[in-house]
Amino acid sequence: MSLVAVFVESQNGKLKRSSIELLQAAARSGQKTVAVALGSESAQLAAECGQNGAQEVHVFKDAKLDNYNSELYVAALEVAATALKPTTILASASSLGKDAFPRLAARMQAGLVSDATEISWTGSQAKAKKPLYAGKCFAEATFQNTSTQIILMRANQIPLSSVTAGAASVTEHQLPAMDLKTLVQEVVRGTGAKLDLTEANIIISGGRGLKEAGNFKLLHDLADVLGATVGASRAVVDSGWVGHDMQVGQTGKTVAPTLYIAVGLSGAIQHLAGMSGSKVIVAINNDANAPIFQKATYGIVGDLFEVLPKLTEEFRKVLGK
Ligand SMILES: Cc1cc2nc3c(=O)[nH]c(=O)nc-3n(C[C@H](O)[C@H](O)[C@H](O)COP(=O)(O)OP(=O)(O)OC[C@H]3O[C@@H](n4cnc5c(N)ncnc54)[C@H](O)[C@@H]3O)c2cc1C
Repeated sequence: MSLVAVFVESQNGKLKRSSIELLQAAARSGQKTVAVALGSESAQLAAECGQNGAQEVHVFKDAKLDNYNSELYVAALEVAATALKPTTILASASSLGKDAFPRLAARMQAGLVSDATEISWTGSQAKAKKPLYAGKCFAEATFQNTSTQIILMRANQIPLSSVTAGAASVTEHQLPAMDLKTLVQEVVRGTGAKLDLTEANIIISGGRGLKEAGNFKLLHDLADVLGATVGASRAVVDSGWVGHDMQVGQTGKTVAPTLYIAVGLSGAIQHLAGMSGSKVIVAINNDANAPIFQKATYGIVGDLFEVLPKLTEEFRKVLGK
């Protein structure tokens, strides 16, 4: 039987939603599904992997893998791939995924499709769909002349449902001895976002229309009520109002939440490249001709300084917060 190896990522000891999506997609395909997890607490993810369709979990419990280091991660992934011989490797198109897996593909001489929004299999032959030109068209890619198909999927693309669950067996692997050329000394985590933008179900993004950094409070007030994550345009990031970890777009993060609220943001093509996969887009802008309205499902033409406090107040009432 063909085997799909899913590289899983976690946050606060729980699988990220994007990893659950991948496990379930692999399990639903009827192929043998195994999870690969790295880091000292990786074995603790086994139960959750099993609940989402993994039959086996392969772990590297080495504390050196607690922070991302491309040399160590690629070495571990190569050990796992050599042992498992998967026909497909699935991982998230996260910054980690986009850094590690092209390196793995080069080492394995394997085919790779990044930024996929759909996957399917005919037998073991995988097919991936991915957007091109900021979502203006889509490419469908299949693989040839490769024994391993590597697909990096965008988050929030696969609906969750129940899959055949069971207790996954845990197999431990060891990192090979290596002379490291780089060493990660410290990881400084961003403070702004509650949930990483790429994982968020609701995003409220602000643009230059907010006029100054302090006015982002208006977005945070609404985000607190809705349980949303706050994002931003590049113009705002370049002005130093918020950190780069909040930037959505071509040179920022690619997001696909259920609801994207764009506030005081024009909708430049480079911004749309990062968020046009959102299911519902609401735009608030005082210029009725702003390009964002061409992408928006719902538009509010108005002054954000009047609209936002009213929206926050109404949602507070409706949601009882
Ligand atoms: C190579 C390259 C890569 C780039 N990558 C990115 C990227 O990743 N992400 C990104 O976002 N941009 C990116 N950009 C920049 C992009 O081209 C735009 O400059 C940027 O997105 C504009 O940001 P903005 O919408 O906040 O500002 P603006 O374009 O200035 O828009 C501000 C909007 O606010 C509205 N507004 C003003 N006052 C109010 C008010 N009181 N109430 C309501 N609305 C109001 C205005 O009508 C206007 O539409 C990139 C550009 C290049 C060249």
